[in-house]
Amino acid sequence: MEEGVIKKLMASVKCGVCGQRYEVDNISILSHHEDLWFLSASCVACDTQCLMVAIIKKDKVVKVITDLTEAELDKFRHMDKLTADEMLDMHNFLKDFNGDFSQLFS
Ligand SMILES: [Zn+2]
Repeated sequence: MEEGVIKKLMASVKCGVCGQRYEVDNISILSHHEDLWFLSASCVACDTQCLMVAIIKKDKVVKVITDLTEAELDKFRHMDKLTADEMLDMHNFLKDFNGDFSQLFS
């Protein structure tokens, strides 16, 4: 999928701090693995840096998880070593996951 398309899709996501929508120019794609995309975005209004994991299928954002810490993102970014089965598990996990990473890792 085109990175420009991904950025456009992610521009509909709002800043978790102030509610401002992210702008395409302020979104960076860090890496991706099949339908999973890892992005960072900085808010034009409050300058907050946000890390996101998005599941994107056929030009459509299925799920966006935000507010990841660097360590959490790093963990995701190394998933390319996983097997297809493990990826599927992760897909299922993210599908049902409520986004509360602090609870998950506590
Ligand atoms: Zn903001």
